[in-house]
Amino acid sequence: MTQDLLVSKGLGVKYGSFAALSDVDLNIRPNTVHSIIGPNGAGKTTLFHALTGSVRASSGRIMFGGQNITPLSDDQRVRMGLARSFQVTSLFQSLPVRENLRLAAQGRTPWQALRMWQAAEANSEALATADALMQRLDLSRVADRAAGELSHGQQRRLEVGMAMASKPRLILLDEPTSGMGIDDIGSMKRLIADLGRDHTVILIEHNMGIVMDISDRITVMQSGRTLVEGTPAEIRDNPAVRRAYLGSM
Ligand code: ATP
Repeated sequence: MTQDLLVSKGLGVKYGSFAALSDVDLNIRPNTVHSIIGPNGAGKTTLFHALTGSVRASSGRIMFGGQNITPLSDDQRVRMGLARSFQVTSLFQSLPVRENLRLAAQGRTPWQALRMWQAAEANSEALATADALMQRLDLSRVADRAAGELSHGQQRRLEVGMAMASKPRLILLDEPTSGMGIDDIGSMKRLIADLGRDHTVILIEHNMGIVMDISDRITVMQSGRTLVEGTPAEIRDNPAVRRAYLGSM
């Protein structure tokens, strides 16, 4: 059996004395889209913070690629191939789309990347990566437009592309369709489904239509704990999940 790419065991996070996460076990298989769903305040974003290292686990451990990453910093986890999209700082608003992607393909952090760009260290491999990504992101038409001039939906696809450019093993997407119109939602849904063919994706998403259509596995959280994990069909038919969502699925 293929080894899980990411595993958490008994993961807990406290904010002061409040337990935002308790005893969370996760098993993320490679090359899958694994969604995390649950009512507001269930602990989904806290789980992402804990996996990426932006908050410390108060208990339990996280294994990534067979290695215990619990004590590692967020930067160390990024360097190991754990990428999170939708960080506001990830786009250079005044630079063209192609340059944004080329810089992301060349450097690990935005500032390293900017220094490389200023030093005019053009890198043909990074350019080829940028061109391939633009096709995949459906952004080739706007390759020469400044990132800040793109529509909301295009900017969010570019942010996913920035995370993809460093060729991570795992991409965490936090509500990638929030605030989008129906056309942009469709494009993002296709992009995530496509990503799951050669990347591993953990997705937080409130749109149940998307979750049910593109997830391989779903973990349902409630009050900081894992309620149930399974395929979309198993989750849809689970009575406890139906109760947690008050029949909204
Ligand atoms: P939503 O769907 O509304 O984004 P969520 O499932 O992502 O919710 P979290 O944001 O992880 O939930 O919050 C889980 C719990 O932890 C909530 O009760 C929230 O109020 C609390 N919480 C989140 N961040 C903090 C913080 N920095 N300090 C104290 N409590 C926090």
